[in-house]
Amino acid sequence: MLKTLQRIVQEVNSARTLDETLSIIVRRVRRAMKTDVCSVYLLDDNRQRYILMDSMGLKKESIKQVSLEADQGLVGYVGMREEPVNLDDATQHPNYVYLAETGEERFHSFLGVPIIYQRRILGVIVVQQQEKRRFDEGEEAFLVTVSAQLAGLLAHSLATGSSSLSGPTQNSIHGSCFKGVAGTSGIAIGAAVVILPVANLDTVPDRLPENIDAEIEQFREALSSVRNDIHEVNRRLAQRLSEEERALFEAYQRMLDDSALGQEVINKIREGNWAQGALCQVVTRHARFFELSQDDYLKERATDIRDLGRRVLAYLQKVDQDEIEYPERAILVSEEVTPSMLGEIPKEHLAGLVSVQGSNNSHVAILARAMGVPAVMGTVDLPLGLLNGQLLIVDGYQGVVFNNPSDELQIQYNNLMRAEHKLQKGLENITGLPCITLDGHKLPLLVNTGLAQDITHSLNYGAEGVGLFRTEVPFMVSERFPSESEQQAVYREQLEAFHPQPVTMRTLDIGGDKSLPYFPINEANPFLGWRGIRVTLDHPEVFLVQVRAMLRASEGLDNLQIMLPMISNVTEITESITFIDRAYKELCEEGLDLKRPSIGVMIEVPSTIYQVAQIARYVDFLSVGSNDLTQYLLAVDRNNPRVAGLYSSFHPAVLSALNTIAVICQEHHCNLSLCGELAGDPRGAILLMAMGYDALSMNAVNLPRVKSAIRQVRKEDAVRLLGTVLTLETSEQVTAQLSEMMERLGLGPLLQPSLLGGRKP
Ligand code: PEP
Ligand code: MG
Repeated sequence: MLKTLQRIVQEVNSARTLDETLSIIVRRVRRAMKTDVCSVYLLDDNRQRYILMDSMGLKKESIKQVSLEADQGLVGYVGMREEPVNLDDATQHPNYVYLAETGEERFHSFLGVPIIYQRRILGVIVVQQQEKRRFDEGEEAFLVTVSAQLAGLLAHSLATGSSSLSGPTQNSIHGSCFKGVAGTSGIAIGAAVVILPVANLDTVPDRLPENIDAEIEQFREALSSVRNDIHEVNRRLAQRLSEEERALFEAYQRMLDDSALGQEVINKIREGNWAQGALCQVVTRHARFFELSQDDYLKERATDIRDLGRRVLAYLQKVDQDEIEYPERAILVSEEVTPSMLGEIPKEHLAGLVSVQGSNNSHVAILARAMGVPAVMGTVDLPLGLLNGQLLIVDGYQGVVFNNPSDELQIQYNNLMRAEHKLQKGLENITGLPCITLDGHKLPLLVNTGLAQDITHSLNYGAEGVGLFRTEVPFMVSERFPSESEQQAVYREQLEAFHPQPVTMRTLDIGGDKSLPYFPINEANPFLGWRGIRVTLDHPEVFLVQVRAMLRASEGLDNLQIMLPMISNVTEITESITFIDRAYKELCEEGLDLKRPSIGVMIEVPSTIYQVAQIARYVDFLSVGSNDLTQYLLAVDRNNPRVAGLYSSFHPAVLSALNTIAVICQEHHCNLSLCGELAGDPRGAILLMAMGYDALSMNAVNLPRVKSAIRQVRKEDAVRLLGTVLTLETSEQVTAQLSEMMERLGLGPLLQPSLLGGRKP
């Protein structure tokens, strides 16, 4: 059974449209279960009706014609109960509705299983048989497994809109919303410019050709270029390979013949697909045929066909690349946006960025932040192939992307953008003012930096120092570990720019979602693996070079603080301090006039919450990394959009932990700050200030709104509010309470704009 299931999933995986997906499901399931009928009904959310989308066994004419109310018939009954319904005689069931068009009266036994994806009913899969009998337990379990496995694929297929419930819309999808994670705050509205991964057969969309003859001509040229390439390779290898070994090239040439693959592609273009789409359709079909073969030799041919297809596609895409004309406001969309893609679009045209892969710590997200380009990362369900040229709204606050938004939504977002712009302008006049509450409590606001570009923004926004310099960023933009003097120059720039204010440099924090191209770390569980201090303690040669570069850079400025990431026990701290002291001593012996920097630790692993008192004995300050602390406390991957709804730094358990840390730090007179995203949210900042945090560090762009909020509250009131908040039970109650307070104090406009009810950081 497992093999059958795997085959079905594999086949469905390679389907290019929803219709193809459904057709595979009904055929394969009917065959596997040896039933008379297999049908799939999908729920049309807008019309609240189940539509018979495909069937093997029911009358063909009824497909896409027959539909049922969401609570009607046995299909509706399965949907409402959200569990299988297994009947030996469906006609006897009170919910049975006779649908004459389907010809189903002949079939008595009925097994319906709901198709559920992320708690949402997508539809119902039904098998029926003439004979009156209950399907046995094994059959029921098989259909439940098929349905559960296929739900994700179907959801994706539906989201891509490659076919829709209300009728085919081959080249456009409407009003969809795709979840990702926030990359850069801000909103952008513009036309999608999709940069497809070069020569990826699986991501090319179907598209109507503008000029069929031109497409055929382009295809013929690409074919001829590949023929020449193969001929050339064959010639070059003639000395090194035997004739038999070179037979593959002959076979390739034959496959490309006009009468073989080539002709099939041309036919598909004539039927109404552009050259790239037609090529991929033909290649995928042939490759799938070979892949499903039991014969190893034939299986291998699938690789050959794909290889050939990729070669032709590369030529077709080369022609296409030359012709890109960027819209005035372009939203760059790609499977994995790379820094070089960012550079391809002229700066004045680049309005926003959407990346299917990557997190808010990816190199490109960091660059986008420095450039102020709203970005959403990790939009795993995004139908890349269908988006080019479509209107998108990128909501970098909420981490969502809207495709083909309604006029109303566009108006709402345009209003938000205007309000946002006005707010930012209005906040400019508090830049030079201190961050102090109405009752005189000072709360220094610092910035998180990584690139040299961050310096100017930060100073413009009135930062009082750097609370977190992510030193991995200069490592990410390099092609090898930067040398000691290269690092020294980068660090000196930061220290000088903020002097005499403190600059807290975090030692290299790689691993997790931060990788270096020249030092890949491949692990099954990267967030629980070789990360941060664990890597650098294992590589003293990297650690010592970095610490020495920091110390050298600080000579004469004396505003350096060193911070250790991902600490989970005291030994890591003492070992790190030993290295730092060794570097310090050696440099002093070399004759440098250095002040020993303050050393601090990030509190971002739950174990450290319970050891704050012990840790405080060894270090000068603590800084909470609330991004990681939240993910580890709640066991929610901070970069997984599927569980983004569970990720909240306003979760009562997180707030309770943050409060505990503050109480213990005060008892031990240890300086405490927080440098995660929570600090950049005015609601979070008010709570942290009430808890007694000594300073907050955030992305520069959030600093003015946090300062404005703090300047308009009294610490006394904030402490009272904190008392109430700490008694609440859910994140939703906490955010509601905080938002109500903000509105009451007239601080509503400072909340990050949202049309979605405000997802928590
Ligand atoms: C954090 O974890 O909160 C933090 C500031 O570090 P990073 O986001 O770089 O992991
Ligand atoms: Mg962290």
